[in-house]
Amino acid sequence: MSLSTSTLYLIVMVGIIAVITAVSVPSLFLKKCPKCGKRNLLNLDHCKACGAGLPDERQ
Ligand SMILES: [Zn+2]
Repeated sequence: MSLSTSTLYLIVMVGIIAVITAVSVPSLFLKKCPKCGKRNLLNLDHCKACGAGLPDERQ
């Protein structure tokens, strides 16, 4: 069994896209606490770590 260059290229590209997606998706669904930097779910009004008020980014 041998992979052609184009197949190997495709696998590498899919891998890169998967990594970028995995890194960027959490920031889409979580908002960062301005006080302690902890990521909280978008539906929370206050940081679960320090209790600081979270800004509403839904504009
Ligand atoms: Zn916090």
